[in-house]
Amino acid sequence: IVEITDLHKAFGQLEVLRGIDLSVRRGEVVCVIGPSGSGKSTLLRCVNLLEVPNSGTIVVNGFEITDPDVDIDRARQGIGMVFQSFNLFAHLTVLENLTIAQRKVLKRGKAEAERVARENLERVGLAEKAGSLPAQLSGGQQQRAAIARSLSMDPQVMLFDEPTSALDPELVGDVLSVMRQLAEEGMTMLVVTHEMQFAREVADKVLFMDEGVVVEQGAPTQVIGDPREERTKSFLSRVL
Ligand code: ATP
Ligand code: MG
Repeated sequence: IVEITDLHKAFGQLEVLRGIDLSVRRGEVVCVIGPSGSGKSTLLRCVNLLEVPNSGTIVVNGFEITDPDVDIDRARQGIGMVFQSFNLFAHLTVLENLTIAQRKVLKRGKAEAERVARENLERVGLAEKAGSLPAQLSGGQQQRAAIARSLSMDPQVMLFDEPTSALDPELVGDVLSVMRQLAEEGMTMLVVTHEMQFAREVADKVLFMDEGVVVEQGAPTQVIGDPREERTKSFLSRVL
């Protein structure tokens, strides 16, 4: 469902991605781990063209994102993205945050959009917060609302960029358990994370990135449990 081939991205002289190959099959959870600055966020941002790659191809849901003639709005509709910061509209209620894009982009009617929104709030355990403003929610609840908002758009694949790293430690678990539940429901997910426990237990495949290349990839038991490469070993010894 996601197929990335020989992806290169530079910011000026700085080569951030230097030939990334990555594929995510339908229903798979792929976790990307690696040190700060290794290009993880840039990789994710390329997948929905928030960054324009210099070369290589990316195909998502049958759309070649890297084709200059792609209908990017349509291509993006199938891709959900959840960032470290929640990006909820502060002046709108949680329910309104979940319905606005459904109505504008998917042209759903009010009742239908609200039905889908409430269904997804239920899914992330926030049914009773529909009428609250984002500021009245904890960070973990805001992040779960952001996930529900993404889900309301019926994505084929969800991208997560360190969705728990801005949260207080006691709030991390709720967000991870929502993600775990999504994975169990069969959602296709590409997740940048520092949560090794999550990667180990939920991922079908783990990629270790360093300096813009995939150093090692495979089953979590292999990459995290029994890494082959020195760079992976030394990274893991710092984070585990
Ligand atoms: P972290 O774990 O800290 O989030 P990361 O692996 O996500 O790191 P990226 O955010 O992809 O790393 O950044 C990779 C490199 O690209 C960094 O050196 C960063 O400074 C640089 N970079 C990222 N975005 C830009 C930009 N818009 N313009 C210039 N340089 C950028
Ligand atoms: Mg990042």
